[in-house]
Amino acid sequence: MSRVWNFSAGPAAMPQAVLERAQRELLDWNGSGASVMEQSHRGKRFIDMAAQAEADLRTLLAIPADYAVLFLQGGATQQFAQIPMNLAAEGDCADYIVSGHWSEKAVSEAAPYVRVNVAASGRADDYLRLPPRDGWRLDARAAYVHYTPNETIHGVEFHDIPEVGAVPLVADMSSNILSGPLDISRFGLIYAGAQKNIGPSGLVVMIVRRDLLQRAGRPMARIFRYAEQAANDSMLNTPNTWGWYLAGLTFQWLLAQGGLTAMAEHNRAKADLLYRTIDGSGGYYRNPIELSARSRMNVPFTLHDKALDVVFLEESEAAGLLALKGHKALGGMRASLYNAVPLDAVQALAAFMRDFAQRHG
Ligand code: PMP
Repeated sequence: MSRVWNFSAGPAAMPQAVLERAQRELLDWNGSGASVMEQSHRGKRFIDMAAQAEADLRTLLAIPADYAVLFLQGGATQQFAQIPMNLAAEGDCADYIVSGHWSEKAVSEAAPYVRVNVAASGRADDYLRLPPRDGWRLDARAAYVHYTPNETIHGVEFHDIPEVGAVPLVADMSSNILSGPLDISRFGLIYAGAQKNIGPSGLVVMIVRRDLLQRAGRPMARIFRYAEQAANDSMLNTPNTWGWYLAGLTFQWLLAQGGLTAMAEHNRAKADLLYRTIDGSGGYYRNPIELSARSRMNVPFTLHDKALDVVFLEESEAAGLLALKGHKALGGMRASLYNAVPLDAVQALAAFMRDFAQRHG
């Protein structure tokens, strides 16, 4: 077996210990003689596992009791639409902070359901920095304020939680949830597609303040209504049982690593090493993001000569460094450094980059 160092933006590397445990348990889970994938979600074994996964997530993030935790499907993209359906009544407006590709997407998918007020946008700056907080034109009557704390493609990250007053703050944390401790009480609703820091795709984890579940929203099928999902432990229909199970294993792994304070240090060390390698390359490699907004999770970079891109990708792959090709919207390279990416992987990447620069100088 040969495992590579995996820098994929998502679906992304999972902790090897989690994959190994899932492998050991694949045919006979929990003494049941069947795989977790082959069992009813109404059975005691599954219900206990699901509750433990939620309890472990609550421990990791110190989630207060007045927040519900949901395990949903449809990806973060579906939530772009479902959030306004649930939190905004007909005719309401909502504020959106646009800091890159994914917050643009959040706006366009929400637009059929709510009057979108783009309260700030970094577009004119090519998303190289975050729109400064003092320029946000927030509407005090907004149903909520939506933002994207980490932009997976553009590689910009908020390192502080913005103050938005009494209006509930809604955050798409798909690419930075669980990367460090978080003050949940500052948020109305947090959601994240699982396939970066939680587990496989096909699962969305949502943390929502319970009072927001009482909002009328608009007429819609029960399956779309968060209050119904909360009242039914996210099992209104058959959940993604396999994804939920792997998320639970990942939460256990995170607890065993020392929790999110340890994760924050681990992620800081990896990102610092990669940015030092880029910035110390004398212009051979470049990351154009304003220093204070650089992402710890997704590091886009370019080579000084685009003609070298193909060679860089070929040689890096041959060296066991997977998925460094940048998103097509930006070109160049991108290394994603989620929780499951070890420091050894980033050390191998940094060494490769220095060696490549010397050989193709
Ligand atoms: N938001 C962010 C920040 C993302 O990175 C992604 C996926 N890369 C999405 C939303 C969309 O997620 P999904 O494909 O699960 O709908």
